[in-house]
Amino acid sequence: MPTRARRNLVGASRAELQALLAELDPRPFRAEQVYQWVARRMAASVGEMTNLPKALREALSEHAVVADPDVLEVRRGGDGTAKYALAFPDGAVVEAVAMPMEGHTTICLSSQTGCAVGCIFCVTGVLGAGRNLTGGEIFGQYRTILRSEGMVGAPVNVVFMGMGEPLLNLAGVSRAVELIAETVSPRRVTVSTSGIVPGIRKLAGLERRPKLAVSLNATTQEQRERLMPIAARWPLDELLAALRAFPLERGRRITFEYVMLAGINDSDDDARRLPRLLKGIPCKVNLIPLNPDQRYLGELEAPDEERISAFAGILASAHVNVTVRWSKGREVAAACGQLRGQIIARGPAQAGGGSPAP
Ligand code: SAH
Ligand code: SF4
Repeated sequence: MPTRARRNLVGASRAELQALLAELDPRPFRAEQVYQWVARRMAASVGEMTNLPKALREALSEHAVVADPDVLEVRRGGDGTAKYALAFPDGAVVEAVAMPMEGHTTICLSSQTGCAVGCIFCVTGVLGAGRNLTGGEIFGQYRTILRSEGMVGAPVNVVFMGMGEPLLNLAGVSRAVELIAETVSPRRVTVSTSGIVPGIRKLAGLERRPKLAVSLNATTQEQRERLMPIAARWPLDELLAALRAFPLERGRRITFEYVMLAGINDSDDDARRLPRLLKGIPCKVNLIPLNPDQRYLGELEAPDEERISAFAGILASAHVNVTVRWSKGREVAAACGQLRGQIIARGPAQAGGGSPAP
């Protein structure tokens, strides 16, 4: 039977598995066993599901497969970062990254095959819109990294900071978060958004709510619109109001990401405005010096270290909890979309799929 006709078990919910197994073995514990193999033990095939009777495995194999994206390329940096280019059957290519930290590894996942938000400093944005990934395609990135890196069962954090805007794909992202929650507490999962206000409100209502990070990147509406065209649609004051209403358990905070661009958003005035904007929101600020990509972003630059430290100093003196992300993974082109950008640069054959040509 051709693979195409068979259902992919990666991404299926418990209810969907129950329906799929209805004619083979309708007892709920069977569906649960299959779910555990796919979502917890990261099985790569039905054949591995050794607590199912052989006859059931054979029957299930006629209806279903366990299929993850193909690994096109893995780039490793000296800091231990491993950046994966992953391809889906329609030819779409996305990135996922594993970054070793102290005591755990952070896994960064993509939510879309491109991004329509169009931030001028972001390779994914510059390459343009793509399609939404399904929950299974997002979860497949996670499974692939865990298995390839030998990390099934290891302590990990998950961040939705790869390609795409997660809150423009809430269906896919919520399903992925639900599946990831089998192995990682939602407290260790972060969704990063460019500020899609209706999406933030919906996320606030999720039962297993991940943590929220917001890419602020500017301190005035005008400046933000210049860097992130979508800011015109969901203005800064509306965004901040939605964040003030976002439910936070005790001790939890919203992370604000701030990509630092020399001469654009790195002035002392910006640093003084920022704490005033964030007043009343339990938060921390993560300053991200621009990760330059000459091919697309030639005219933008990261500020020098002195400027970044001075900016961070002003925030700290206003009692803002601030950290600087000093180029983790820069040598493997780890900023959003950069590896895929380079694959596209080598020729369209490897990066078609739902994304438009650059
Ligand atoms: N679309 C979501 C999540 C993916 S982008 C969002 O925008 O939040 C993840 C982070 O990478 C964002 O904070 C974004 O501002 C940052 N980023 C994008 N391009 C970058 C670059 N060239 N250098 C440094 N950070 C970048
Ligand atoms: Fe999209 Fe985020 Fe890149 Fe902006 S920074 S274009 S929202 S992926």
